[in-house]
Amino acid sequence: MHQATNRHKTTCCYCGVGCGIVVQQESNGQLTVEGDKSHPSSRGMLCSKGMNLHYTVMDQSDRLLYPQMRMNRSMPLQRVSWDAALERTAAVFKTLVEKHGPDSVAFYVSGQCLTEEYYLVNKLIKGFIGSNNIDTNSRLCMSSAVVGYKLSLGEDAVPVCYDDIEEADVFFVQGANPAWCHPIIWRRIEARKEANPNVKIISVDPRLTDTGRASDLHLPIRPGTDITLNYAIGRVLIEEKYLDEEFIIDHTDGFTEYREQVMARTVEEAADLCGITAADIRQAAEWIGRSKGFLSLWTMGMNQSVVGVSKNLSLINLHLITGRIGTPGNGPFSLTGQPNAMGGREVGGLANILPAHRDVTNAAHRTEMEKFWQGPVKIAEKPGLTATEMFQAMDDDKLKAIWIINTNPLVSMPDVNSVERALKKGRFVVVQDVSSRADTVAMADVVLPAAAWLEKEGTMTNAERRITYLPKILEAPGEALPDAEIIWRFAQKMGFGDRFNYKNAAEVYDEYVQTTTDTTLDITGLSHEILRRQRSVQWPQRMDAAVGKASVATPRLFADRKFFTPNQRAQIRTAPDGNASEPTDTDFPLVLTTGRVRDQWHTMTKTGRVAKLNQHIPEPFLQINPQDAAERDINTGQLVTVQGRRGEVRVKAQLSDDVRQGVCFLPMHWGKILHSTLGRTNNLTNSLVDPRSKEPDYKFTAVQVELY
Ligand code: SF4
Repeated sequence: MHQATNRHKTTCCYCGVGCGIVVQQESNGQLTVEGDKSHPSSRGMLCSKGMNLHYTVMDQSDRLLYPQMRMNRSMPLQRVSWDAALERTAAVFKTLVEKHGPDSVAFYVSGQCLTEEYYLVNKLIKGFIGSNNIDTNSRLCMSSAVVGYKLSLGEDAVPVCYDDIEEADVFFVQGANPAWCHPIIWRRIEARKEANPNVKIISVDPRLTDTGRASDLHLPIRPGTDITLNYAIGRVLIEEKYLDEEFIIDHTDGFTEYREQVMARTVEEAADLCGITAADIRQAAEWIGRSKGFLSLWTMGMNQSVVGVSKNLSLINLHLITGRIGTPGNGPFSLTGQPNAMGGREVGGLANILPAHRDVTNAAHRTEMEKFWQGPVKIAEKPGLTATEMFQAMDDDKLKAIWIINTNPLVSMPDVNSVERALKKGRFVVVQDVSSRADTVAMADVVLPAAAWLEKEGTMTNAERRITYLPKILEAPGEALPDAEIIWRFAQKMGFGDRFNYKNAAEVYDEYVQTTTDTTLDITGLSHEILRRQRSVQWPQRMDAAVGKASVATPRLFADRKFFTPNQRAQIRTAPDGNASEPTDTDFPLVLTTGRVRDQWHTMTKTGRVAKLNQHIPEPFLQINPQDAAERDINTGQLVTVQGRRGEVRVKAQLSDDVRQGVCFLPMHWGKILHSTLGRTNNLTNSLVDPRSKEPDYKFTAVQVELY
């Protein structure tokens, strides 16, 4: 019997729920994990992925252990020293920047990165190389919500906290399946309903999922009709006088235009377009209107859309016309996908933003950061390339070099065949990762081994603005280094040593914290040392100079009814309710929607190694309505080809009434390494994006399905 020697509190590294975990290290080196009962977000709960996290740490079979490089792609990768790998990378970057300008290089990073890592990459490329070409896989996930919040509330700021779940009596879940994808938030919702049977859950999704099954009302709308639905609900709220007129008059702009827009269609017309009944729309509106606490939750079904920003605005508007924001149990609550998507945005880790929610297009903001960083260049005033634009630019030979950190675009990007072509054409590809199972490693000229979860320290921000500190508990294997250290070592090789002269991640954090001074996300009351003691804090957390200590934390934003817009009023914004997705036709008559399964995470480089997790759903499948299947003589278990305008995949069919007629579903996780090219869902998806958020339209692809 081994004695427990060490117990460490940290945070799950999978999703934006950000559950607290206690990692126990036995004297024989074995690890176990359990939920951290003291963590306010998760209260001791973990989902199947979190409960099995220790297996991903103990199985080191796929770890990248040493820097590797090759002089051309026909040669195998060879082990080299860190100095050799970083010196060559720096030489290539310098040459390209000199010859083709700073915009010839780019960094594509990840919502898995810690805040300190994000901050350093951002500082390096924007303040020292002179390009805004840094984007992240959060672009594929949350950017429509970001733009929605900025346009309506003035800033990328989730107004609610998880404790609002226990105060709400209507949960409006649109384009999300939290029962599978945000399970611990969902468990809190279930507990709330169990304790209060009058609580209502409304689910809006073309598919009936476990979330829909547990809901009081499931609205299986046609893909792309969310705005129409939300406008119809808005119309009923107006007609039935569920508005908060005082709030509208005192704290918002834009209601007149909104009323005109939503009154343009009858509820019956909207119901026809959405493919549901007018009675169900009225029921949803009545529950929302009568509620004391109205919480709306959404994720990829709303964000991953060519009209994702308008979808977000149409939902936030329901809170603004009813005044249901900034009070207990009320508010819009975007469910963040990745564990640190929010932290990345806070430090400016997108092509259009700077630290502390500053904008690259704002001259004053650029000047502030230029003064702060004291780099050798002016910050470029044009936003950099976004995720999809980077690979298109590489395909066109406009972008010459890309450095990919902790993400696997060869599985996750839309129209992935074009991304594969671009990476093959790219002159220089650096892949910095933990795992050799990331498909993108095969494309690299230089491979840099990164330290994994538990092997480095830093911070993350979860979906309720809660910043937590993650301690280093284990040594990284081989020569793997923390991502932050890789970046500061590289910056030194580029000749920026005096401004990248850090001893540890705490110093990086201290520097970032200073950039937040007097901003809406002021966290000048925080440091690694304080977070080590307090474990987690919701931003803002100012240093109160008068008393010499941090201010009281802010669980809920806008309690004072002052929004972050220039006139401090929330903006009710309207847009046409059409959908500009790829059209279906007789060749491609079905709409393909994509998503996750319960026990897998993203491209499965971690969860795919855990036998227990693979048991749940061991292989990809196509969910198709029985009527659509009958028209094609397809039965459950048969191999089918899903054909689109850009490629195809071959998987087994699963007939189910859970998906509405005319729609089919593929999970997004499997890539070439795990299931050959025939299972890669993103062979089919397209690179249409929302024009404002640049987030891809993953949820709407025209396809045909036939028996293989
Ligand atoms: Fe981890 Fe998310 Fe599961 Fe919590 S809900 S244990 S953060 S994967």
